[in-house]
Amino acid sequence: MTTNRTVVLKSHPGSSLEAENLGIIDAPMPEIGDGEVLTRNIYASLDPGVRMALGAATAYAAALDINMPLGTLVIGEVTESRNNSYPVGSLMHCAGAIQEYSAITSRHCRWTVDEALSPTLSHALSILGMTGLTAYFGLLDVGKPEEGNTVLVSTAAGAVGSLAGQIAKIKGCKVVGIAGGPEKAKRLTDDFGFDAGIDYRGKDTLQLAEAIRAAAPEGIDVFYDNVGGEQLDAALANMNWAGRIASCGMISEYDQAERHQFQNLFQIVGKVLTVKGFLSFTYWREFPAALVEISKWMETGQIKLYEDIEDGIDNAIPGFLKLFSGANKGKMLVKIADR
Ligand code: NDP
Repeated sequence: MTTNRTVVLKSHPGSSLEAENLGIIDAPMPEIGDGEVLTRNIYASLDPGVRMALGAATAYAAALDINMPLGTLVIGEVTESRNNSYPVGSLMHCAGAIQEYSAITSRHCRWTVDEALSPTLSHALSILGMTGLTAYFGLLDVGKPEEGNTVLVSTAAGAVGSLAGQIAKIKGCKVVGIAGGPEKAKRLTDDFGFDAGIDYRGKDTLQLAEAIRAAAPEGIDVFYDNVGGEQLDAALANMNWAGRIASCGMISEYDQAERHQFQNLFQIVGKVLTVKGFLSFTYWREFPAALVEISKWMETGQIKLYEDIEDGIDNAIPGFLKLFSGANKGKMLVKIADR
């Protein structure tokens, strides 16, 4: 191989991301330095948070330059190594990019995939990867649900949201989910065992707040929020005294310049709420134990995650765009190569 097909930023998006803002180039094959490995990437994760690097710099992500690769988590096989911890043939979970091959520094090698735990390799990037870990730590450590609590989840039919809701059910909570469209709202009860599903589309803040109240007249103890904006505002109107809001993401703001005008922020004071943001990678020391627990829940059929896998790097861009239209049917991944 002399070239390395790589998804890059071609132009900065205007109001929202379009396919033509991204492209695939034949980049030169990367060369590795001391301590680095070269991975042949098998799966790449398509994550909404990557959108934040594609426009102006934010507090979360530096702005990506034109023709620079879209960084993401990948599962790759080490084909060249200058790092004794990761010999040739190792299967790595690392911070790479949506490309065929990545040069990975030791700082970006996250862990070696445990194939006993993840015999289906894609799971190592989804339910047994950052998606599962984000749901796990965000719900349990930040949301701190107690048995009998009512938990509200946004993007509830999506990857992180569906898992957060199922874990809340395992912990003995009543779970209400918010999702886009009647079909997704129905999946929340039918596929994921939630107690109620709400379709947010076509509802303003007041109407959404009423729909939440109808589904949970007892009020919300924990809100696992992936959306921010209007959904956060409507949830605030329904929070119980000393409720907890686990702020996992704000996808309503990633692809839109317009910002929601909040009506219910005073509830944070009036109901003595705890609103806490988190980033899952900060829990890395606790990942191994969490992965064992998640895999047990999987084995016993207590949780499941749908995957939406695009086949081939040529389909990475349409796959990434699905995250912002809501067309994805589970954790978005792209399969770049066979094992
Ligand atoms: P999902 O599988 O949930 O897919 C994204 C979903 O977001 C879409 O299907 C759509 O669902 C919804 N959506 C898209 N645009 C909007 C919008 N403008 N307003 C409301 N909903 C929208 O993605 P992930 O599970 O991978 O990610 C979910 C969230 O978790 C994101 O906010 C992401 O940034 C965050 N995250 C945070 C991490 C952390 O460490 N804090 C780590 C990983 C992810 P619908 O059709 O229901 O609207």
